[in-house]
Amino acid sequence: MATELDRVDVVTVGVGWTGGIIAAEAAKAGLQVVGLERGRERGTEDYQNIHDEYKYAIRYELMQDVSKETLTFRNNPDQRALPMRQMGSFLLGENLGGAGTHWNGQTWRFLPYDFEIRSMTEEKYGEEKLMEDEGYRLQDWGITYDELEPYFDKFEKTCGISGEENPLGGERSDAYPTPPMIKTRILEMFEKASSGLGHSPIMMPSANLSEQFENPDGETIAACQYCAFCERFGCEYGAKSSPEVTVIPTARKTGNFEVRTHANVVEILTDEEDESQVSGVRYVDTRTGKEFIQPADVVVLNSYVFNNYKLLRVSDIGQQYDPETEEGSLGRSYCYQIFGGATGYFDEQFNTFMGAGALGMAFDDFNGDNFDHADLDFLHGGNISITQTGNRPIATNRIRPDTPSWGSEFKKESIESYTRTLSVSGQGATLPHKDNYLDLDEEYTDVYGVPLVQLTYNFKDQDRARHKYLAERSVEVLEEMGASEVVQNSELGDYSIVPYQSTHNTGGTIMGDDPEVSVVNNWLQHWDRDNLFVVGAGNFVHNGGYNPTATVGALAYRCAEGVIRFAEEGGRLEEE
Ligand SMILES: Cc1cc2nc3c(=O)[nH]c(=O)nc-3n(C[C@H](O)[C@H](O)[C@H](O)COP(=O)(O)OP(=O)(O)OC[C@H]3O[C@@H](n4cnc5c(N)ncnc54)[C@H](O)[C@@H]3O)c2cc1C
Ligand code: SF4
Repeated sequence: MATELDRVDVVTVGVGWTGGIIAAEAAKAGLQVVGLERGRERGTEDYQNIHDEYKYAIRYELMQDVSKETLTFRNNPDQRALPMRQMGSFLLGENLGGAGTHWNGQTWRFLPYDFEIRSMTEEKYGEEKLMEDEGYRLQDWGITYDELEPYFDKFEKTCGISGEENPLGGERSDAYPTPPMIKTRILEMFEKASSGLGHSPIMMPSANLSEQFENPDGETIAACQYCAFCERFGCEYGAKSSPEVTVIPTARKTGNFEVRTHANVVEILTDEEDESQVSGVRYVDTRTGKEFIQPADVVVLNSYVFNNYKLLRVSDIGQQYDPETEEGSLGRSYCYQIFGGATGYFDEQFNTFMGAGALGMAFDDFNGDNFDHADLDFLHGGNISITQTGNRPIATNRIRPDTPSWGSEFKKESIESYTRTLSVSGQGATLPHKDNYLDLDEEYTDVYGVPLVQLTYNFKDQDRARHKYLAERSVEVLEEMGASEVVQNSELGDYSIVPYQSTHNTGGTIMGDDPEVSVVNNWLQHWDRDNLFVVGAGNFVHNGGYNPTATVGALAYRCAEGVIRFAEEGGRLEEE
């Protein structure tokens, strides 16, 4: 029998970037907020002596325990979906701060083209280019870049992002709050080569700050030490913008925010008297197994792509997508990313062992529709970059392709190449396809008895063509940089959930202006439940050629505004 707790104004399910932003904004507006986070409390003080590659980068100490909850995967419905028993292709966040604790901090805004991809493509190239006969299902997002711009600006100021103007990006209302990071020898070489090829390189927008910064909420973020233990680690200096050093303390300072850790939400409760409303959530304390009902006026799902989808589905909210009939919006348009690149072998030695998660340079000449697609068999593209994140020795051991995989030759080549190889890579978009979707698994459950999410996904022809194109452009840059040998990534095969690629999963709870084909409106308010909001990369209608979190953060700030307005006035936000 679940214990029913006192009602609160807002409950957030999950307290990472999105949950932290909702909590901070709602609590500042005077609303009583409870954050239910299934992981544990943590902060900068827990990241001292964290430079242990095996524990954190290989054994994923800070991340989701996949023995308790995971997902099942198959490439297509003819295969039997099996559980992901070890973290692989993507790394799921858990505990206070979510994946925002151990992210890299590469903080790109999606392009104006992304938000209006269907109409812009159709207008420029004609309907045929949408390739609907081949199963692609492009949709506009129901919001434009210009409408989202103030929220991008807000997120960047919360984080103190270090960066410089991108001549090929969307228009900005203000400069980045802090200057770009240090341009190292490696980055200078990339800049010279890519400019020489006619591209427009810029320093990567970085949440590893170039200098100490006090954000508009009064939180101080320190200056990055270029320690090279950034992605997969928390920052012991408080120099990486993450929820624990920004929005969570901001929310707590108001006195209106309570974080309840070890609280695993298993169901969203629909109001028994009014089907258009939710009444709260049911959760399990993971230490005692006790169940609680937390009633709330507004529920906001901030539990990442897979759990946001799962909670809606197990709570019977919305219609599941069916790939045969293409009816239903919940679970549709799951997308991922592709990385077409190359490795260059140099005679010169570099300090590749130093770096930071978002230390890099990039250009957008082959991203979005910044180049002509009339004669290409794919749409969109990707941001091509070089990053100097720091080569940690277990994960990084590049050797020339003809080297034996053991023995003295192997050792000699490993030592030789460790400081003499550089990679350039295009982070390629992927587009929604009718055969890629999320569902619930009929056989496997998590440790609480709730069915696992089932992912059905494979790369499509456009992905293979885009991947090859980006890899070829990367080869050109490395050759121009003076590499003595350049090895292009092998061509894209079937998607595998085993090797790490990126934690840039999108879709499943997409936004839009048509309830038939989207789950939430452009305030992230659920179409079927007025007081339920769903926020995260699951809202993305396709995946762009960048890392997602600036766009996720912008959507979260917009959602927070919607939540506050809803708390004051109620009703449907899209009608205003
Ligand atoms: C290794 C790595 C590197 C990355 N680098 C970058 C980068 O450079 N740039 C970029 O843009 N993005 C990057 N990302 C992605 C970025 O971290 C995410 O986009 C962002 O953190 C997502 O925030 P979120 O709030 O949507 O979800 P999360 O951070 O995943 O937070 C969700 C929270 O919900 C909790 N939760 C889940 N289910 C429940 C439940 N049922 N009940 C209660 N709580 C629950 C989880 O424990 C978690 O704390 C990276 C991710 C990883 C893993
Ligand atoms: S590289 Fe910079 S931001 Fe990243 S963990 Fe090290 S000091 Fe912190």
